Amino acid sequence: MTSPKIETEVAVLGGGILGVSTAVHLLRGGASVVLITESTLASGATGRSLSWLNSAGKRSDAYHALRMAGIDRYRTLFAADPSREWLQFDGGLFWAAAGEAAKAETRHEYEQSHGYDSKLAKPEQISALTCGIDEAAVSDVAVFNPGEGWVSLPHLVEYLMAEFNALGGTLVAEAGKSRVLAKDGKAWGIGTKDGSIYAADKVVVACGAATPAVVEEHGIYIANGSPISALVITEAADYKLKAVLNTPRAAARPNPGGTLALDHGWYEERIVEHPDGSFSIPEEVVQELTEEASRLLEGNPQLTPASWKVGRKPIPGDGEPVFGELEKLPGCFVAFSHSGATLGLIAGELLSHEILSGQKHPMLATFRPERFSRE
Ligand SMILES: Cc1cc2nc3c(=O)[nH]c(=O)nc-3n(C[C@H](O)[C@H](O)[C@H](O)COP(=O)(O)OP(=O)(O)OC[C@H]3O[C@@H](n4cnc5c(N)ncnc54)[C@H](O)[C@@H]3O)c2cc1C
Repeated sequence: MTSPKIETEVAVLGGGILGVSTAVHLLRGGASVVLITESTLASGATGRSLSWLNSAGKRSDAYHALRMAGIDRYRTLFAADPSREWLQFDGGLFWAAAGEAAKAETRHEYEQSHGYDSKLAKPEQISALTCGIDEAAVSDVAVFNPGEGWVSLPHLVEYLMAEFNALGGTLVAEAGKSRVLAKDGKAWGIGTKDGSIYAADKVVVACGAATPAVVEEHGIYIANGSPISALVITEAADYKLKAVLNTPRAAARPNPGGTLALDHGWYEERIVEHPDGSFSIPEEVVQELTEEASRLLEGNPQLTPASWKVGRKPIPGDGEPVFGELEKLPGCFVAFSHSGATLGLIAGELLSHEILSGQKHPMLATFRPERFSRE
């Protein structure tokens, strides 16, 4: 059953998972939606994300609750069709560097203390919990979180866009760097690089790491802590890995087509930012990451990097998400978050609720943009 059309027209800026999810939830709620993005869909962080669905480790209670709700929405999607190659729930496995067993133990104790499914395992116990791991690579002790999963965000975007199109959404891709238009202190639309104007009752800025720059033009400050990152996709390989691995030298997860997705942070300073704003990573770094990943897998299969993408990973300055309407620019909502994969579905749902109902959702109460100040 389709919802009756309501009178709200919304212009969403940014074709990553947060923009696409918000757009689809708005359409489900009966709004008219235009989704405008600089280049192609998923050309930002969404196209190069490890997208491990989790709330592992320590963070604020509110952020944990939001992430758990995020996982819940993915579980519902998963249950509707567990055979999807791009969304799976087979757990996550973490271990720290040799000699740092206390890190894993502390993490496990904390996770247990608030009911996050967490099991501590010695290397020889891991094969009873999950498959495809070379236990010789595991130092001391690992934490297995059976409730975690992973998603391939480009596939999810494609899936959501089928609904976007069916519900009559309008997509404007290749719009170039676009801006929020405001008059008398209120947002009223989006202007694209070629001068086209999309008037709207409400505007959403979901521009990933560029979100602070887009709202800065209107005198609004959101601290930006987005680091440079890279994601490597391998050729199809012979592996049995099911879980998402977070280990001292490589993070790895299965990826559609029998490939693997890999990332880590140790090579961040070896990524080069060019004057035109593009990035590159030395091929030997990509090779080294691939070799590190091979060491984690049972039988140490030869892994060959097929493609890699580099760019900023959206992270607000204080690490917590930023969601909601800008008090200083009514009519303009923002969605800017680390863990935007885990939050992808729930963030779109709650933000569209706020936009369409005018009511603030309590789960977003601590994530308001106004918490930042320049001092
Ligand atoms: C290497 C890596 C690993 C990650 N791992 C995880 C993980 O394990 N778990 C997890 O939950 N999350 C993870 N994330 C984070 C998650 O992928 C991101 O938070 C999420 O994809 C962000 O989506 P977004 O829609 O906010 O931004 P983006 O995907 O960056 O999309 C923003 C879009 O806006 C467009 N845009 C920007 N400025 C403008 C403008 N002025 N005009 C028009 N368009 C504009 C961009 O072109 C882009 O397409 C990871 C991210 C990276 C990069």
